[in-house]
Amino acid sequence: MALNPPLLVGPDRHGKRVAVVDGRIAAAAPEGARVLACPDDEIAAGNVCAHTHLYSGLARYGLPPVVPAPENFLHILERVWWRLDRALDADTLRLAAEDYVARALLAGTTALVDHHESPNFIEGSLAVLADVCERLGMRSLLCYGATERNDGADEARRGLAECRKVPTSPLVRGLVGLHASFTVGDDTLREAGALARELGTVVHVHVAEDIADVDDARGRGYAGPLERLVALDALPAGSILAHGVHLRRDQVEAVGRADCWLVQNPRSNEGNRVGYAVNLKFGDKVALGTDGWNGDMAEEQGALTRLAALHGDDCAAPRLAAGRRLMAERFAAAAEPLTEGALGDLVVRENGRIRHVVVDGRLVVEDGRLTGADMAAITAAAESGARRLFERMRDF
Ligand SMILES: [Zn+2]
Repeated sequence: MALNPPLLVGPDRHGKRVAVVDGRIAAAAPEGARVLACPDDEIAAGNVCAHTHLYSGLARYGLPPVVPAPENFLHILERVWWRLDRALDADTLRLAAEDYVARALLAGTTALVDHHESPNFIEGSLAVLADVCERLGMRSLLCYGATERNDGADEARRGLAECRKVPTSPLVRGLVGLHASFTVGDDTLREAGALARELGTVVHVHVAEDIADVDDARGRGYAGPLERLVALDALPAGSILAHGVHLRRDQVEAVGRADCWLVQNPRSNEGNRVGYAVNLKFGDKVALGTDGWNGDMAEEQGALTRLAALHGDDCAAPRLAAGRRLMAERFAAAAEPLTEGALGDLVVRENGRIRHVVVDGRLVVEDGRLTGADMAAITAAAESGARRLFERMRDF
């Protein structure tokens, strides 16, 4: 894949200049590099959404009402998301991902960590997501969340096999996904850990999002889902654990000792009424995700600030910075954004509004508009795709 040509951004209103060469921040740009002037604006690091679900991108167009209304977290999964994911095909998945990625880029999110499931369209699903990210210019970590909840161990094997097929590029890398401890057997957990080690990557899994996950692991003889994942060797260093709402302080600290990441998803946790992840304040590798809510990280941070204050949590501030470190780790780049050797991902803000977005040295949003696609066309296609998807959901 061809590298993006050199780009020099700035000077901004603080006199800051940032050069991007071969996708990385460089000390200087070569002669003849494209210059993106922004004398009245401000250069800043892009945001990272450290856990999301691109497959839910059409939900914003009005999910049909759920009857009977969900009374708990498992009902929400069974009556909404596990019906929607079974109804997805290649076309609706592509439309969902395009809509989600486009809006996230326009909001200044330059990278995301996706967790994908489409049980009736497993093979080829990650290629659809990778293609959308490549075309629109979103840095991403992709995986299929292996599960046994529909078709047992065979379904899990197909999910893990799909994780092998992520088309790696300067913009896209693969992870090994597991849905959650409570929907997989021991063999699947062992295989996921082994596959991640074989591929030189890490595992991405929901952990202790709801008390049901904890109860399930206890019923299998473990202290909790974290202990089960560790006992079955499913968490290589650097693995990404979404939620951790029901982890105790000592468990959060154990995740840190295992050198793994936790991802807090405050809007989703509030919406699903699973609780506030109060003990994540005891972790130092805790990033921020949206769990399928829109990819505007300023909105997610606003929700975190509000909920943290409500719960007396004064440690929730560094989450966005942690997400950038997570992404730098997976792409083997310098951890400090906008310094030499860091990922070539940045935004230019005009009075706080996102004006330009650069990912891997490519200008993907210019003057508030996507360069790789037309937002109005994406919206129109997504609206009609959503109608087809919601119709299909009735059959699942
Ligand atoms: Zn999730």
